Amino acid sequence: MKGFIHSFESFGTKDGPGIRFIFFMQGCPLRCLYCHNPDTWSAKNHAFEMTPEEAFKEVLKVKAFIRNGGVTVSGGEPLLQPDFILELFKLCKENGIHTAIDTSGYLLNDKIKAVLEYTDLVLLDIKHIDPDKYKTLTSKPLEPTLHFIDYLTEIKKPIWVRYVLVPGYSDGEKDLHKWGKFVSTIPTVERVDLLPFHQMAMHKWEQIGTAYQLKNTPAPTKEEIDRAENILKTYQLPL
Ligand code: SF4
Repeated sequence: MKGFIHSFESFGTKDGPGIRFIFFMQGCPLRCLYCHNPDTWSAKNHAFEMTPEEAFKEVLKVKAFIRNGGVTVSGGEPLLQPDFILELFKLCKENGIHTAIDTSGYLLNDKIKAVLEYTDLVLLDIKHIDPDKYKTLTSKPLEPTLHFIDYLTEIKKPIWVRYVLVPGYSDGEKDLHKWGKFVSTIPTVERVDLLPFHQMAMHKWEQIGTAYQLKNTPAPTKEEIDRAENILKTYQLPL
């Protein structure tokens, strides 16, 4: 069995603790308006096809550097390829390497539950708390992600939650309060990252020839970021 991989990075520092080897997997069922990797959407445009063993060989090349970090699978939506990740993560765990998945939580099935047994940390995007606005932002319903969170709670899986702050889409005061209150009820949340929207992926949208609706949306100002952070802090979130 082979994994369809968009790209990989040996020294990632943003997707989990420590220095990490990151696999960006190909394919995603969501269509987030602010997506910074729209070139991962199609299940077909992968640059690499690797078996889990071949992928793990790449990891071993930098094992000394990631000993305080680990391996993260991101995307796209990595859980579209649970068979590949399950085998890769088994190899990681056999070798004492920390594992993380960066996901929207949109998918959950028995294979994914098996992957989660070998996953140390879930980096979970809760992209909006209002179901209608979630759908506007991602093209998909919020409900599967809530179901995914229930499962993570049930198995006591550590979570780092992420939220992209997009002016005019996800920065409403009421929504931020509702989001913060909800996240404060998830018992295994270890960290919350508020990620300011940016325009650095605009060229990728042009490359794939898809209309980019956020072309004229500005990045949030420092004041807007501080304001959002202060709202979330009222819920004692680990920001
Ligand atoms: S889930 Fe991630 S990769 Fe998929 S569309 Fe949204 S931002 Fe892009």
